[in-house]
Amino acid sequence: MEAQRYECPRCGHAAPVAMPVWRCPSCAGPLDLTLGPGLRRDRIRAAERSLWRYGAALGVEKRVSLGEGWTPLVAGEWDAAPVQFKLEVLMPTGSFKDRGTAVMMSYLAERQVGSLLEDSSGNAGASIAHYAAAAGIAATIFVPAAAPRAKIVQIAASGAKVVPIPGTRQDVADKALEASASIFYASHNWQAFFTEGTKTLAYELWEQLGFRAPDNIVVPLGYGSNVLGCDRGFRELIEAGEAARLPRLFAVQAENCAAFLAAQDGTDFTPRPTVADGIASQKPVRTEEVLAAVRRSGGAVVGAPEADIVEALRAFGRKGLFIEPTSATAGVALSRLLRDGPIQRGETTVVVLTGSGLKAAPVIGDLLGIAAG
Ligand SMILES: [Zn+2]
Repeated sequence: MEAQRYECPRCGHAAPVAMPVWRCPSCAGPLDLTLGPGLRRDRIRAAERSLWRYGAALGVEKRVSLGEGWTPLVAGEWDAAPVQFKLEVLMPTGSFKDRGTAVMMSYLAERQVGSLLEDSSGNAGASIAHYAAAAGIAATIFVPAAAPRAKIVQIAASGAKVVPIPGTRQDVADKALEASASIFYASHNWQAFFTEGTKTLAYELWEQLGFRAPDNIVVPLGYGSNVLGCDRGFRELIEAGEAARLPRLFAVQAENCAAFLAAQDGTDFTPRPTVADGIASQKPVRTEEVLAAVRRSGGAVVGAPEADIVEALRAFGRKGLFIEPTSATAGVALSRLLRDGPIQRGETTVVVLTGSGLKAAPVIGDLLGIAAG
């Protein structure tokens, strides 16, 4: 395949991928990868029951894998409309992050990165810690000192070094930026190969829907790796002549912490606590790029009020889908989009369920009023 390269969307700096970098050496902004050649359907490795069935379209040779991807797409209903639930909850570490992590870790292992740093108390921290363990790379994970014990346990069980940082989530990110001078910063929000992995969500939906794009994808939005992955994957498929158009991307934020929604609507942004902790981003890295992808698709950023998130969480449970509160925001948005008209009942709509409820069982118990004992 054509050699991919890093490219800065802001200053135009370009660099080969031979040397791993996490941000633009010229303007310190986030780097992208140039689009890959995409994939014709006859190049799918059908015997692989993982995202590596699309290995021909991924810019890595080495493989660090725990069997991620090829998750079920299950037909169901939401507000009496037919929908397809994409069960990213069934990944090796319980969240969609494993797509991005597997490809990013493969790239870093290929370049012989021996140790890395990540900051996250949640799904990304657990994902990167376990894939680093699988790759034999030493991982240091900065976490908020107040993070729930269950989340720390999942990270630490991999053997990663867990460093608690006092203060807010943003304080943790700032400390990681400082430490990045001395250890490779493998941030899922910065490193461009993470999106090379999340693009396989687009490939999978295309294949599972009979080699066509859905009309709509409804997905929670924290920093935007699924939005950017879908944008990248479907654009590559269109370039390769394998898809006719982009699906509309409806990216969902909790109204209490909605930096993208504020940027889209030109309003002030004041972060407040939300039960959707997985998407409570205060200073997203690629705001312009994510909003551009949403606009290009004809979709929108949609807000979810707190009370509605809890009711949606309850409704998912009653359908047999045990998900974390963050994922329930997608149900809130879909209800609104069906009610207000942007999504029609006859369309093909995918709801991406990004994280397992097993990670947040005590919190879910409190939210749903499930009695102890
Ligand atoms: Zn730059």
